[in-house]
Amino acid sequence: MNTPAAGHRPGATTEQEWAARRPDLPAWRPDPAWRRVVVCAAHPDDEVLGVGGAMALLAAAGTEVVHVAVTDGEASHPGNPVLGPAELAAARREESAAALAALGVAPVAAARLRLPDSGVAAHEAALTGALGPLLVGADLVLTPWTGDGHPDHEAVGRAVLAAAGPLGAPVAQYPVWAWHWAHPGDPRLPWDRARALALPPAVRDAKRAAVACFTTQVQPLGPDPAVLPPEFLAHHDRDHEVLW
Ligand SMILES: [Zn+2]
Repeated sequence: MNTPAAGHRPGATTEQEWAARRPDLPAWRPDPAWRRVVVCAAHPDDEVLGVGGAMALLAAAGTEVVHVAVTDGEASHPGNPVLGPAELAAARREESAAALAALGVAPVAAARLRLPDSGVAAHEAALTGALGPLLVGADLVLTPWTGDGHPDHEAVGRAVLAAAGPLGAPVAQYPVWAWHWAHPGDPRLPWDRARALALPPAVRDAKRAAVACFTTQVQPLGPDPAVLPPEFLAHHDRDHEVLW
């Protein structure tokens, strides 16, 4: 996640507002024939918040889920006296592994690119190059949305599209930060190509367990409040996930 202004800002759209005007979207369902799906995240937790349910369903169906962590999320708590950047990176790597296990995703299928948190755009060409080999043979690539409102999320989305294009690999983008700043019916979101994946109760439970693994983000850390407070997490506790 790693929002430029951490926490749920005053004036942000509440989950109650989204629930009251839930768009009627066509269904999106994983294809049982898919053998390999690559899930990219700018920061550890993006993928779980955005498509953790999809990852759990894919893994349960026997699809290989390859997790690509572009950064280790070391910039989530600047100046924090409890955990410095290197310690945060290590903690978030462990949190990510625990979250993937909670989703039933095999830990061996993971790639960690270690680009600088909050500086992905400056390495976009290198990222595109690094993604190429990882996307070969992918039946689908999931990535943060190129319009999500966070520079790292958008840079990862652009790099994925650039790398997947020549390979002919289909890409679906997931919003994370958009649920916070956008509003129901917001014309800045591509509703015309949005699809919704329904999450069975057991999958929602697995996603909740996975989100809870990111303790450095969902709990206060020293003097810093939680980066992901309950008001924000509510957007990612729905009975569905949206992709486009
Ligand atoms: Zn993020």
